[in-house]
Amino acid sequence: MKHILVAVILLLLMLFLMPLLALPADTASGANSDAAVSPAPTATLPADVSTNSLAVSSQPPAASAAPSLDAQTSVRLLINGTIRTVPMDEYLFHVVAAEMPASFELEALKAQAIAARTYALYKIQNGPSPNHPNADLCTNSNCCSAYITEAKMKQAWGASLEEYRAKVLQAVSETDGQAILYNGQPINAVFHSSSSGTTEKAELVWGAAVPYLSSVFSPENGETVPNFESTVKVPVAQFRLAILQAYPDADLSGSPSQWFGKADRSRADRVLRIFIGGVPVAGSSLRSLFGLRSTAFSVSVQGNNVVFQVTGYGHGVGMSQYGANAYALQGWNCYEILTWYYQGTIIGSWKR
Ligand SMILES: [Zn+2]
Repeated sequence: MKHILVAVILLLLMLFLMPLLALPADTASGANSDAAVSPAPTATLPADVSTNSLAVSSQPPAASAAPSLDAQTSVRLLINGTIRTVPMDEYLFHVVAAEMPASFELEALKAQAIAARTYALYKIQNGPSPNHPNADLCTNSNCCSAYITEAKMKQAWGASLEEYRAKVLQAVSETDGQAILYNGQPINAVFHSSSSGTTEKAELVWGAAVPYLSSVFSPENGETVPNFESTVKVPVAQFRLAILQAYPDADLSGSPSQWFGKADRSRADRVLRIFIGGVPVAGSSLRSLFGLRSTAFSVSVQGNNVVFQVTGYGHGVGMSQYGANAYALQGWNCYEILTWYYQGTIIGSWKR
């Protein structure tokens, strides 16, 4: 009888405890969805990701255990004509300092550090540029990422040198080894300075669709971005000459106000192509011919000038740096920022 009583009590205890044991998991997922900010980014926390090809850390990101993942990843860097092997964290310090204003929010700088690390890993994995077959990366922003030397950093930062140095170092170290992954691999993490309020699909800029480089809303505007709206005036005669050199079939014999036809625009309001003198001209061609800051422009003839009104700066694909800072000011963390601009990705730890 006593045994039966004990068994019944044990059974009741188990029935009572089982739902309690299940609670922590439910609570965690609830907290996750509460954390989403509107427009809701995919809630993604740094996580270790299994991959077949490269070593993956079992350490939680930003763990203080030494040595860091970045210190274990070396980069063959072409700098001043020679190839130097430098650790990833040292390389990233100079890249983040060059690519983003150090006055930006720490979470924006951390997003930049992860994007720059991912971009470098992508380049390393996919083989070097033909410009430098024996170096993974170079310091030319037109080929790889921008890079600033100590001397130029001193000039640029002046009295804020120590504060900014500490902030950029923190952005790199707090994201140690973290990369943006799609299908378990580092992505081609392209970024730009400011969009026109919406980022651009990769296929509309470079021709090939990339699933994680789609078009998303971006919150920067003229109040937060210097020269967000810019104007380029080109004398009519100079415009005519430049177009005829590049497009000899264009008919620019009539009045300049009649040269321009319909412009095809993307959802991001960028000019895909516009008819000039009866010939289709890519927005990107006009951008390079006349030094426009982006392809988000309108064009008109005013007196003796062809006038471009341009919005934003850069190709518009991937993360907008000013947009990242605007989101950081709204309270988004670097993971929310990155998984918004690179849709369908996760952040995971990675070393070469
Ligand atoms: Zn390069």
